[in-house]
Amino acid sequence: MPGPHVLVDLDIIEANARAITQVCTAQGIEVFGVTKGTCGMPQVARAMLRGGVTGIGESRFENIRRLRASGINCPILLLRSAPLALADEVVRYVDMSLNSELPTIQALSEAALRRGKVHDVILMVDLGDLREGIWPDDLQDTVEQVLKLRGVRIAGLGTNLLCLSAVKPTHTNLGKLSEYAQQIEQHFNLKLRYISGGNSGSLPLLLEQGLPEGINHLRIGEAILQGGRDTFYDEPWEALNRNAFILQGELLEVKRKPSLPIGETAVDAFGNTPVFVDRGERLRGILNIGREDVSPEHLVPLDPRIELIGASSDHLILDIEVVSPPPQVGETVSFYMSYPALLAAMTSEYVRKIPVLAQNDPADPDERLLAQLIEPELGDVLSRNDISAHLAALRFTASPYSCYCINAEEVYEAVTSALQANAFPLIISADSLYTLAALQAATQQTDSMGLIWIAATAAYEPLHAISPHSLLYHAMQAASPEVRLTPQLSPENIALVGLRNTTSDEAEALHHSGMQVFTMSDIDILGMHEVINRAIRGASSGTQGVWLHYSPTATDMRTDRGEGEGGLTFRETHQAMESIAQSAQVIGISVSHLNADDHPQRVRSILHFILSALGQQII
Ligand SMILES: *Cc1c(COP(=O)(O)O)cnc(C)c1O
Repeated sequence: MPGPHVLVDLDIIEANARAITQVCTAQGIEVFGVTKGTCGMPQVARAMLRGGVTGIGESRFENIRRLRASGINCPILLLRSAPLALADEVVRYVDMSLNSELPTIQALSEAALRRGKVHDVILMVDLGDLREGIWPDDLQDTVEQVLKLRGVRIAGLGTNLLCLSAVKPTHTNLGKLSEYAQQIEQHFNLKLRYISGGNSGSLPLLLEQGLPEGINHLRIGEAILQGGRDTFYDEPWEALNRNAFILQGELLEVKRKPSLPIGETAVDAFGNTPVFVDRGERLRGILNIGREDVSPEHLVPLDPRIELIGASSDHLILDIEVVSPPPQVGETVSFYMSYPALLAAMTSEYVRKIPVLAQNDPADPDERLLAQLIEPELGDVLSRNDISAHLAALRFTASPYSCYCINAEEVYEAVTSALQANAFPLIISADSLYTLAALQAATQQTDSMGLIWIAATAAYEPLHAISPHSLLYHAMQAASPEVRLTPQLSPENIALVGLRNTTSDEAEALHHSGMQVFTMSDIDILGMHEVINRAIRGASSGTQGVWLHYSPTATDMRTDRGEGEGGLTFRETHQAMESIAQSAQVIGISVSHLNADDHPQRVRSILHFILSALGQQII
């Protein structure tokens, strides 16, 4: 894989979240997971939610939009005051925000009233760390002012420690927060829902002696993501795993060189005067990671025999003298990261983020049950082109889950039972609503799924009614959970391939959709090999499997006779299907737009594309 990348282990994140929420829940404390260290990766938010957090905290708007677009619909808490100009967006996308300034809260109130909503605010109190927060002397006054605003509700009090001045959370200072809360509840005769006692830095106190009475909420990022690499620096908390994030780069040069530079030295590119110790000639490696990507001081090589010598913008220099066998050019070197390195790597656009999730073991890889779900009108065409011998060669066995489906509801039921029985659903229909039903069933059966959609059209027209033109749009945007495919299917995990017809409304909607779109021109420029690999990567990133939808409209079925329409060639279509099969991620396939009166040659071609997607190769 070219370029540096971070592997994100979602199972570790889930397990860390679970360990923390269990201890917190036992003490009556609710936990929000903080995703800002990962730029709001929706896969990470979902892993945290699986691990038991009840909401997500985020500090940046871009990240919150990303979470909402992926269907994360749990409560989201904005962790820092919004700029005044963003008040409308805050009210629209987040349920609750941390605040310390009256003008901001006024703006939020007005924005909420305009939307006919009430926005929850947690008032931040400064207990001495001197970052954000209302000074305790001013607290009563501020509460009194806020209570006059009709668009906001005081959901609680909160504090943040450690971040700026490294003031430690203690029984004394957190006890104060709890006391202020009581005073306010009594004085104003109101009930505060959250007394939010800080970030990961409050966990050591919680483990030692419990938090002061009254604290009932924490906002935890580092300890979930990094397993407390920084928080529990001296005494690790055994229940947490620190290795959810691994940075990997590739060796670009491996050479034996003296350990002292030759010639007069000046300051380096960053204004420092490097100091070296003479250790004779040593084997050195250069890695394709640099200061543009991470803060090298915060990297720890997984292999303890590797030492970091230095870094420039694009290179990391390693001492690999004692590694045996000696690493070769092209090999991968891996690092753990402490929080500053994690932040830098996650925000660097040069570093790819690759979420990984343990795959469910396939029941029996030697034999796969196939559930062919077919529109009844197509029965004759398909029996004239029997592919059962090919399927058998691919180790697919016919299963009792195969059937004719007379409508979308039957498709939904059939796909559901097939997936539950570990059978592979293959839907063949003329009607694209069958596809929608299949996708709905599949998303219900997985925790997270990707989609590769190969078709001439995106079905993403922003229309009010569901139609073949608006099917995917509705599936992603619909309010009702029966129709909606999010959050199991996030737009980030959808790749459209082969698009060549769209309306201007649709193009606009696609532009804002967050999906990966590869038009025919992209395929011309990049080639199908590159396009389909990007699509597979996008669709499979952090998901438990990928659904393939193929519409023959994508492929130029008439090129032989010189009447092409500018679609994919036969060979490109096969290439895409073969690559998808090799990725071994496909959990189901739907094919639409196959009609009972299609030319036999067209039907045969389509069936052979399907066989390629199921793993058929030339040799
Ligand atoms: C970042 C942040 C957190 C989470 O801090 P961690 O140390 O990562 O647990 C909590 N609250 C606020 C206000 C923050 O900005």
